[in-house]
Amino acid sequence: MNLILIGAQGSGKGTQAQRLEDRLQLKCCASGELLREATARGTSLGTAAQPYMDRGELVPDHLIVAVILEYIAGQQGAHGIILDGFPRTVAQARALDHQMATCSQRIDRVISLEVPRGRLIERLTGRYVCRAAEHVWNTQSNPPRVAGICDFDGSQLFQREDDTAEKIARRLDIFFSETIQVTDYYAAQEKLARVDGDGPIDVITERIVGAIGVPQPPAYTLGSESAMQG
Ligand code: AMP
Repeated sequence: MNLILIGAQGSGKGTQAQRLEDRLQLKCCASGELLREATARGTSLGTAAQPYMDRGELVPDHLIVAVILEYIAGQQGAHGIILDGFPRTVAQARALDHQMATCSQRIDRVISLEVPRGRLIERLTGRYVCRAAEHVWNTQSNPPRVAGICDFDGSQLFQREDDTAEKIARRLDIFFSETIQVTDYYAAQEKLARVDGDGPIDVITERIVGAIGVPQPPAYTLGSESAMQG
């Protein structure tokens, strides 16, 4: 199964992608993370992408499409993929469809994780990620057990450079004017499911799993009636 998670910055799609990766045995590909790795390593992609990322703008399609399609081609044989942060333009979505078709694959479901703009700003200002693996934490809604340290790998947490008020506003403007059109593209293919992204993290995961249509484990099994009564 191949999934796309679409959501504005701060919608929680990174957190949910990590959870779905484990739960559905899918391989997650986060375009922003790939680009940040490329800039850290100083590759030609990273050098070309850096100025756009610094301004909170989209990296041009020709730079990002090639790297993501190459990644997907390398995932042949995996159970499937979750794309987090790609596609962000209709041109990227078309290139992705084309690539999937050439390897007899398809995008099965597209989840649009929807959160009001005011809540996104609140969340982004409290967002921290870990140095080792970009696990996402939030001082308000999802704090780590020890302040400043990732529960999963013990690495330090930091605030991303593009999580400043001015850049957040710019990135959200782009999302609501451009990336939102990608949802129409997949709605026309009848693959889109809109999920309310406001609420506790576990509840949102269940909403997404329900929207994907994955069979749920039973809420109780025979012999566990006492648990139901309790
Ligand atoms: P993210 O971590 O998803 O918020 O991405 C961080 C930055 O990487 C974005 O602000 C863009 O500059 C760039 N980026 C990530 N994915 C894409 C994409 N699909 N198309 C263009 N730019 C992207």
